[in-house]
Amino acid sequence: MGDTLKTAQLALHGGAPVRAELLPYGRHEIDDDDVAAVARVLRSDWLTGGPTVAEFEAAFARAVGAPEAVAVNSGTAALHAAMFAIGVGPGDEVVVPPMTFAASANAIVYQGGTPVFVDVDARTLLVDPAKVAERLTERTKAIVAVDYAGQPCDYDALRRVLAGRPEIKIVADACHALGARDGSRPVGTLADLNAFSLHPVKHVTTGEGGVVTTADPALAARMRMFRNHGITVDHRQRGARSSWIYEIVELGYNYRLTDVQSALGLSQLGKLAARVARRQAIAETYIRAFASIPEVQPLAVRPGATHAYHLFVVRVDTTRLSTDRATLFAALRREGIGVNVHYIPVHFHPFYRRRFGFGPGLCPIAEAAYEQILTLPMFPAMTARDIRDVVDATAKVIEAFRSEPPGGRGHRSEPPGGRGPRSEQ
Ligand SMILES: *Cc1c(COP(=O)(O)O)cnc(C)c1O
Repeated sequence: MGDTLKTAQLALHGGAPVRAELLPYGRHEIDDDDVAAVARVLRSDWLTGGPTVAEFEAAFARAVGAPEAVAVNSGTAALHAAMFAIGVGPGDEVVVPPMTFAASANAIVYQGGTPVFVDVDARTLLVDPAKVAERLTERTKAIVAVDYAGQPCDYDALRRVLAGRPEIKIVADACHALGARDGSRPVGTLADLNAFSLHPVKHVTTGEGGVVTTADPALAARMRMFRNHGITVDHRQRGARSSWIYEIVELGYNYRLTDVQSALGLSQLGKLAARVARRQAIAETYIRAFASIPEVQPLAVRPGATHAYHLFVVRVDTTRLSTDRATLFAALRREGIGVNVHYIPVHFHPFYRRRFGFGPGLCPIAEAAYEQILTLPMFPAMTARDIRDVVDATAKVIEAFRSEPPGGRGHRSEPPGGRGPRSEQ
């Protein structure tokens, strides 16, 4: 198979694809016990505003070792609640990297703040603390640090940068990084506020949902009020007091997570550790396989970081190939591999160009990375066969576009990574 693969015609050019059905880049997993947990709550007295939400919050807080967890109805709402809690408003600047989902920056704008885009480290695509230092002004209110792909940013370095400015809050957009750690410290405890998403492509899902963790009970209280229209007491507390009185003390939203969703979240949380371990095993297989394809470079992992691998992102050295990323993307898709690109730099989007006058040139490292990154399929239910298909298809496509064979690598009788380690499930 190795020899045929080496000369195999790309599906893009009319050849046979590596696999017939598209392998998605990510997908959720729902087991029978998840369904049963949801059904139990559906038959209970509380579909929303009930006790399962608090139970889920307590379990989530325990899972990440944080004193407080506040559940909301999306990761975006989690980021918005964080911006509200720390008091971001008009005139405030919030530093954020552009290599992220737009919600990281949108949440700043929802509160009337100004996003200040800061460049990333070329090897990890995490926010570069030295560059953060250059972006601070007297208006800086906070930093949104994105735990890109699933490993934590260097929060110790960020705190050193902010040593003279204790009023500046650090918010982690940890939507990729549930289950990750820095040394022995879990993501969820590393920043003042830590925002998670429970979208189906993430580690644990409630359909839509989000959580913010914090060690600060006052910030947690503000976020609980914010998710419920800015009302001081919730429906259940009023019932317990036999009173109709409530007050809107701030402008809040309906960002409540339901009890139905919380039941699913509770059930899913029990599987977090196994799912993260599976993602790490898949990543190890990829890293071993791509060691023999020099054009394909997995992103670096920070020393001491335990990566939760929401995404497996590689950087393709297109300077050594006779094609560009767009063609590689199309070729891999045609081979049946559902590659993706995370992300278009946020400041490239028309809204950000129009509203703030941003555009190319603002963050050159992120912009150059954007031209070369590909997200390969990564989800716990991938089979050994799925993983092998990704490696084989990547090898096939790179081989086809290799400008010239790099010297000394000789001929392979097997595609890179061989048939994949057989012990790998
Ligand atoms: C998923 C995600 C979000 C938003 O989460 P939703 O639950 O979809 O609102 C925010 N930031 C990052 C980095 C994400 O990956």
